[in-house]
Amino acid sequence: MSFQSGGNFKGGRVKRAGGGRSAGVAGGGLGIVVIALVAYFLGVDPALIEGALDNTGITGSGSGVSGYIGACTAEQANTDRQCRLSATVQALDAYWTKTLPAQTNVKYTPPDVVSFDGQTQSRCGVASAATGPFYCPADQTIYVDVAFFDRLSSRYGASGGPLGEMYVVAHEMGHHIEYLIGALHEADNDEGANSDSVRIELEADCFAGMWAGGAATTVDPNTGTTFLEPITQAQLKDALSAAAAVGDDHIQKTQAGYVNPDTFTHGTSQQRMNWFTTGYEKGKVASCDVLHAKNI
Ligand SMILES: [Zn+2]
Repeated sequence: MSFQSGGNFKGGRVKRAGGGRSAGVAGGGLGIVVIALVAYFLGVDPALIEGALDNTGITGSGSGVSGYIGACTAEQANTDRQCRLSATVQALDAYWTKTLPAQTNVKYTPPDVVSFDGQTQSRCGVASAATGPFYCPADQTIYVDVAFFDRLSSRYGASGGPLGEMYVVAHEMGHHIEYLIGALHEADNDEGANSDSVRIELEADCFAGMWAGGAATTVDPNTGTTFLEPITQAQLKDALSAAAAVGDDHIQKTQAGYVNPDTFTHGTSQQRMNWFTTGYEKGKVASCDVLHAKNI
């Protein structure tokens, strides 16, 4: 999936933060980092393991907002990761501004988005290079370290590709949609294969699929052209590969060598692909109500 040529994306939507790479992780921290990584992975609220992060030796903040991602052409958005992030967020804004009130009685209010380098402070705790992207409901902000996208392919075997990166951003936006429609408030904070935590993650995948399916028909109000070229089968595979790579069973097998459904918090790779596809094909908020679905 590529941004339609001729498209332009204004600057000022995504904040930049972070004071460069952190000094590194103190000795003995590997196990803790792995736990943090799993818990943070595209997760909702990392506050629970804040204490664990404190033990990794990552200290200090000094990482306030230092500016914004500037204006980008579609060509830049197709080649530069920061531009791609900014453009993806704007395409998501346009899609949900139209879609959410049309299908629900909820108005879309955009989340803040922070692109950080190294580490930054959120109201859900410290975000570091090891955490991966996440959504913090306490400050309604999506935090993304674009370096995460390299690890997505190198460590978890995703095939990479721009749509995979867009999927991750769209998934975090999915959590914001869940915040707006009240699903995040309603869900328990439990774990396990049939838990609300897993359902919340799968619902965000479904919302990401909705956007992927609709983005090629969403017109940029500033240019009058659609945001994205139609999605190809190969590109859809990239997105699904990213979804599969961050499934709990895949992460657990890669890191621990075995699968324990009791500690699932994101769902299996197959479930994540299924719900992404449901959103992509149906395009309906109601079809993505994983929280109340009989079978997931
Ligand atoms: Zn998530």
